[in-house]
Amino acid sequence: MSELDIKKTVIIGSGPAGYSAAIYASRANLEPIVYTGPEPGGQLTITTDVENYPGYPDGVQGPEMMEQFKNQAIRFGTDVRFEMITKVDFSGPVHKIWTESGEEIQAHSVIIATGASAKWLGMESEQRLMNQGVSACAVCDGFFFRGQEVAIVGAGDTAAEEATYLAKLCTKVHMLIRRDEMRASKIMQERVKKTENIEVYWNTETEEILGATQVEGVRVKNNKTGETSEIKVEGFFVAIGHKPNTDIFKEWLDMDDSGYLITKPGTAKTNIAGVFASGDAQDNVYRQAVTAAGTGCMAALDAERYLAEKEII
Ligand code: NDP
Repeated sequence: MSELDIKKTVIIGSGPAGYSAAIYASRANLEPIVYTGPEPGGQLTITTDVENYPGYPDGVQGPEMMEQFKNQAIRFGTDVRFEMITKVDFSGPVHKIWTESGEEIQAHSVIIATGASAKWLGMESEQRLMNQGVSACAVCDGFFFRGQEVAIVGAGDTAAEEATYLAKLCTKVHMLIRRDEMRASKIMQERVKKTENIEVYWNTETEEILGATQVEGVRVKNNKTGETSEIKVEGFFVAIGHKPNTDIFKEWLDMDDSGYLITKPGTAKTNIAGVFASGDAQDNVYRQAVTAAGTGCMAALDAERYLAEKEII
């Protein structure tokens, strides 16, 4: 492959991180190609109102916001390809990636923005009432349930944090925990216990989310006694963890036990020169659109510096 055919920058993923990286990279003449992946626009395309992204005083629909991100990237020349990357080879110095249709692309720099996916319980009613009261993000959607009762499933730090967050907005939070103990850190457990309007249901599993077109309640089962009961709620939050979409990088990049990519503190640099990581694929703490966009910007600036040092640009 001639030098001319080697791309300067390829961006894998098309959420706020990927498109922010694309906006910066295209304005810096890195001529980026974005591979959107299987969910073009990322997790925001499965939410409705986004009210916490700065610059939208009246809120914006998630899919509409991502369309605007995409159009802004295209305006500066980003090449957006609706394809998935299935394999990479970072043995370098030129990096290789393959699309699902088998095409090989070579690039001097790669920005990973593949995001993470919320885990779901996998029930039909959960799928059907998605965005009709079912959510996997309390910080995004809790506000819509202020003054109402909600349920939350999970017992890790995320569930504990989100339950206490919801308790500030909602009259009552019913916390459904499948075992007789919580996985969350001691301090978060204490916070849950001290919050008066959180009621914890131990050994409790969700049988069904109730409601035809809107969440109206949840039917739960105590897995010790076999007893079932119904709880009236308007919102149902699932907080049973996320999975970063990083499987294809396992062979090459440093990641933690859960698969989150590890970057050098204060940068988007991975352990491989010329490969940068941004967004939820490397962040299991903040996971917000605005933080993802910020790290996408960092990745593009790091890539630009890297290419300049290598005298590629
Ligand atoms: P975790 O994997 O830690 O916890 C997931 C929870 O969901 C567990 O309690 C698990 O139950 C429960 N669960 C899983 N599947 C089901 C199911 N099908 N039905 C019911 N419950 C289920 O995920 P988190 O997102 O909470 O945390 C991920 C990582 O991020 C952790 O390392 C956490 O410490 C960290 N984190 C740190 C924060 C902070 O420091 N501020 C904030 C948020 C997260 P079980 O326990 O029975 O397996």
